[in-house]
Amino acid sequence: MVKEPKIVIVGCGVVGAVIAYELSGQLAANIVVVDQHRPAQGATGAALGVLMGVISSKVKGRTWRLREASIRRYSSLIAELTAQGYTVPFNPQGIVSLCFDEAQLLRWKMLQVKRQAQGWPLEIWPTEMIQKRCPQVDIQNTQEAQMTAVKAAIYSPADGQVHPTELTHAFIQAAAARGVTFCWQTKVTQLTMQAQHCTGMQTSQGYLAADWVVVAAGLGSAAITQIAHEPLALMPVLGQAMEIQLPAALGDENFQPVINGNDIHLVPLGKGRYWLGATVEFPPETWAAGDILAAEAEGLIRLKKGAEQFISAIAQAEIVKTWSGLRPRPVGQPAPVIKPLDNTDNITLATGHYRNGVLLAPATAQQICQQLREQGVKEKTSEKYRWCQPKDS
Ligand SMILES: Cc1cc2nc3c(=O)[nH]c(=O)nc-3n(C[C@H](O)[C@H](O)[C@H](O)COP(=O)(O)OP(=O)(O)OC[C@H]3O[C@@H](n4cnc5c(N)ncnc54)[C@H](O)[C@@H]3O)c2cc1C
Repeated sequence: MVKEPKIVIVGCGVVGAVIAYELSGQLAANIVVVDQHRPAQGATGAALGVLMGVISSKVKGRTWRLREASIRRYSSLIAELTAQGYTVPFNPQGIVSLCFDEAQLLRWKMLQVKRQAQGWPLEIWPTEMIQKRCPQVDIQNTQEAQMTAVKAAIYSPADGQVHPTELTHAFIQAAAARGVTFCWQTKVTQLTMQAQHCTGMQTSQGYLAADWVVVAAGLGSAAITQIAHEPLALMPVLGQAMEIQLPAALGDENFQPVINGNDIHLVPLGKGRYWLGATVEFPPETWAAGDILAAEAEGLIRLKKGAEQFISAIAQAEIVKTWSGLRPRPVGQPAPVIKPLDNTDNITLATGHYRNGVLLAPATAQQICQQLREQGVKEKTSEKYRWCQPKDS
């Protein structure tokens, strides 16, 4: 019998987890996932899980293709996980993005036309429609200048929101059920190279051999790729967010889309609970790899005040908890980085997802599967499937 190749995935945030799930469903391989901590404790643990696909301003090129592929895959992925018995909180009620500027409205209208041609629905709502569908939105904030008045909204019913940590755990359990091995508290300290070929890696738990390596270690990917001629450069961009509690759901409790205004997301969680986020805080120019980044002291106050400008009821909310996380932003190349590591023949990068890692994780996994297939990893022929065939077929 031919030995299956061993694929080691370094990092188990949402990206590493979905890659493990998709690879184990499609390719004949012995798959091992290692993480220096427990799963979903990097950027994924801080994310809000907003899936801004159709509503994004990207209309062509790689960025749009990745977003579109992910939005398509999400609906089938959630159904697949649910059918396997995993519960993943998923909000399919879309995203409403508020428009405060007439000039921006023209761009939204052009986007709507483009999306219609691409087969995706997008609705432009006048203020009357916003008041009808989302009465929690204050069209004209009386305390602020005319500038903060809501002029219109764009509604994308095909986008949504998913709980990033619970999604990651569901992928892990489903992949483990397909035979994937997970090693926690296992930090990869160095890849072992023979010329351009990686034979394995040194870890905090000993040596681990590999035929293929997928680096999905978020911000940790930069240190791992130091063996390359051109190592990956990543910059941390801090985000702060909070969970708030209101006495009851805002607006219509049966229609609770994500509401976005001025880049602030209000994410409904049910029973009057919401996530609010996130700030975008770049490191100072003097930042060097390894430096600790402090969150801006006023960041959360500005975030809440910003949301109150379009939903004044948020002023009454109790803050239940706050947190921050670091987004992995590539330096010198667009996000995300999904390609073989320079000058190596069996290491591939699936990292640098910056602000959209939850959204782009499924499309990333599709690309990694495709790359490994093209490099000769065979399709899985499922024993289970064969056994399930009717005997006389
Ligand atoms: C506040 C905030 C809000 C966000 N909201 C959204 C959102 O609404 N929608 C969206 O799509 N995205 C959002 N993002 C971005 C998203 O969180 C990231 O793009 C995504 O989580 C990246 O996932 P990842 O798996 O690549 O990285 P991570 O989640 O950081 O996972 C990397 C893993 O690699 C492990 N690792 C690192 N180095 C090593 C090593 N040497 N050895 C072993 N393991 C290692 C880490 O322990 C970690 O578990 C948000 C981010 C933040 C901070």
